[in-house]
Amino acid sequence: MDNRPTPPQPISYDISLTPTARAAAIASVIAETIFTIYYLVSAYPAPLVAIQIAASLLGAFGLVLLRRSSATRIAAQILTGALYISVIGLALFTGGLLSSASPWLVFVPIMATVILGAQGGLFWGGVSLLSAVGLYLFRGLLLAWTLHPTQDIDRLMDLSFAVLSGTAAVYVNELIKSRAMKELDEAKAQLTRLANLDPLTNIYNRRHFITRSETALQNRSANVPFSILLLDIDHFKEINDLHGHEIGDQALVGVVAVCSAILRKADIFARFGGEEFIALLPNTTQETAVAIAERLRAALEGAALPTTAGDLRLTVSIGISVCCRERIITVQELIRRADEALYQAKESRRNKVVCWHDLLRGVNEI
Ligand code: GH3
Ligand code: MG
Ligand code: MG
Repeated sequence: MDNRPTPPQPISYDISLTPTARAAAIASVIAETIFTIYYLVSAYPAPLVAIQIAASLLGAFGLVLLRRSSATRIAAQILTGALYISVIGLALFTGGLLSSASPWLVFVPIMATVILGAQGGLFWGGVSLLSAVGLYLFRGLLLAWTLHPTQDIDRLMDLSFAVLSGTAAVYVNELIKSRAMKELDEAKAQLTRLANLDPLTNIYNRRHFITRSETALQNRSANVPFSILLLDIDHFKEINDLHGHEIGDQALVGVVAVCSAILRKADIFARFGGEEFIALLPNTTQETAVAIAERLRAALEGAALPTTAGDLRLTVSIGISVCCRERIITVQELIRRADEALYQAKESRRNKVVCWHDLLRGVNEI
């Protein structure tokens, strides 16, 4: 059975732009249609109405193209192009630089950024800027092209729509950005959780245990005792050999459940590897550490661990190391000492708790 989680699908920047492009496309097609109706009703010259109709149709075509995911960027370019044609076309025939359509040039790069991304925004910003300079340079010539000088009502319409569109575009952009950052934060937190946990037993893994313990050891106040328990299942290989690896896995989960019920909230419990577990007991004297280890040992000896092959029984050996007054000691050294004590527990026929300090005194068993 393959338990490996499927890797998350990459969210590409381009894909993230599509929903905004769709919303912008619908909004711009609606706006251009409103303008077309307005020009028709207000009896504007035919070329102005024609430009507006052409822009609306191009926008609608972009909207259709957006449905095909492979053509998203082309569709976004077409939509921005439709807006540009509408703006520059109207500006040409309604007074050039003085036309109320000119301020819309500001909105072209804004829309391009929202639906095409940063590069698209820069490109259309350049186009808009050059167009503005062009309108200035050819102002005398363009005035001769004017079919319909801008009226106050045109200024009001154009300015209001430009303000509304700019505000909406920037607002939507910020909304998407904050949502994406929130999702990223959640994904990062989830990844950190996964990186710190053992997938079988759902307790901390060795790497995270070491990191947490090093921090706890560093932050320890002077003379505050600090204990480590290293627990190893006795003859676990036999369980695997007898019942199979899967039942062995279920037994490991059962061992964790028994230990977790006994260990305290402040203790850091982790799978050290294979059938070995480790617990850091902060602010715990050797006496208390031994008492806790003994409770763990006895509880596991008495427990019937549920598996699909029936209840299993097993025992464990535990090595303990404690640091009290030693100021300069590493987690690695404490683990090494606990391992030495564990080795001694195994040597003394297992199902035992042994303390490293007692080894020094030549007292091997508790
Ligand atoms: P001892 O009392 O000396 O510790 O004997 P033992 O059999 O427990 O120790 P040994 O090191 O000989 O074997 C450990 C076994 O643990 C062998 C390995 O297959 C098994 N094991 C390690 N990790 C896992 C695991 O994730 N799942 C299962 N089912 N078995 C595991
Ligand atoms: Mg082992
Ligand atoms: Mg073992």
